[in-house]
Amino acid sequence: MDDAAKKTATPDSPGWDVVDLLGEIADIGRDSVRGGYSRHVFEPAELALREWFTGRAEALGLDVELDRNGNIWAHWGARGSGTIALGSHLDSVPGGGAFDGPLGVASALSAVARLRAQGVMPARPVAVVAFAEEEGSRFGVACLGSKLMAGAIDPAKAVKLTDAAGVTFGEAAAAAGLDTGELGRDGERLASLAAFVELHVEQGRGLADMGAPVAVAASILAHGRWRLRFSGEGNHAGATAMRDRRDPVVAAAAAVLAARDIAARHDDPSHGTHGRATVGRLIPVPGGSNVIASRVDAWLDVRGDSDASTRALLAEIIDAIRDRAASYGCHVEVAEESYSGPVAFDADLRTRLASTLGGPPLLATGAGHDAGVLADILPTAMLFVRNPTGVSHSPLETASDDDCRAGVDALATVLRELLGQRTR
Ligand SMILES: [Zn+2]
Repeated sequence: MDDAAKKTATPDSPGWDVVDLLGEIADIGRDSVRGGYSRHVFEPAELALREWFTGRAEALGLDVELDRNGNIWAHWGARGSGTIALGSHLDSVPGGGAFDGPLGVASALSAVARLRAQGVMPARPVAVVAFAEEEGSRFGVACLGSKLMAGAIDPAKAVKLTDAAGVTFGEAAAAAGLDTGELGRDGERLASLAAFVELHVEQGRGLADMGAPVAVAASILAHGRWRLRFSGEGNHAGATAMRDRRDPVVAAAAAVLAARDIAARHDDPSHGTHGRATVGRLIPVPGGSNVIASRVDAWLDVRGDSDASTRALLAEIIDAIRDRAASYGCHVEVAEESYSGPVAFDADLRTRLASTLGGPPLLATGAGHDAGVLADILPTAMLFVRNPTGVSHSPLETASDDDCRAGVDALATVLRELLGQRTR
């Protein structure tokens, strides 16, 4: 970084410090029941965040545009080919943390503000983007805004997605001012993007264990979801002797433990291998407290580094689950609901970021992101900011003020580099 830039680099010009920016939205969408935040796409809290983002971007002299898929773009300079985009999302899971999403958007605003204050005249277009429905919390499909833009989901299917209150995505999008006939692949915009860099709070404790504030993402784990249907025999909780039972809840419980034990043997993040298995949802039928269930539906989430390792982990878990179910007199059916292969971020861009930032840690992530959706189409990269608790999608998610600022330092450095400005 040159001397003139150093003088103005930190602290940021008044009003554009990332900690202050997050402070401005700290009261929007608080969830008094779950704790944390519930900010779901096109609902009042998320609309308030959109308004905040628009106002802040305009105050920075950016030109704000709602794209035809509900994503907001704030342009610095002329629009067009070669655009460097930075950003993330504003929505949250139910009872989510303060950083997942907004940290990336606020950091992008702060980084642009810093370069502006340093007198950088961007030689190519720059845009800050807030993607819609990244969490899929309202309509059930994660990264819906970026998937629509990328053509990764059929808009005819997207408009029919329904929230818990029976409102369709089409209805909610129309109410937010979108033309639902225009939803879908945005080829012109995709062609204009040279790179997308998403900064995100880390969803894990890799950086906390390494003692570093910022990492560059290496990859996103392969990820699939399978429905397990355990069938047994419904019966009376008092009248049925223990030896006569075929209880699918017991089979499901054994399956949960088997999945946990098997994945634990495959998961060694300190050596760069990842194998994750989770059952986070079970529905016993009929679900009476004095009834042996006749059926349990459960959902198994499995993640791994490659297609092969993820499929191998799944196969081992399913074998064990069938064995355990049979030992309790039950039967299990397995149906794949979704599968996405691993995302390898653009190697050149990743190497360039890592060398610009002086060799920060490289981390794989088990969470999906808009940057992962766009990675199929254009060079994308991610920066992670240390999360001391390692917890995300929870009010316990956190990042220190210093680390948030270190994230902006990294993002601003990366942006200068990508704009071809001298960085050091
Ligand atoms: Zn996120």
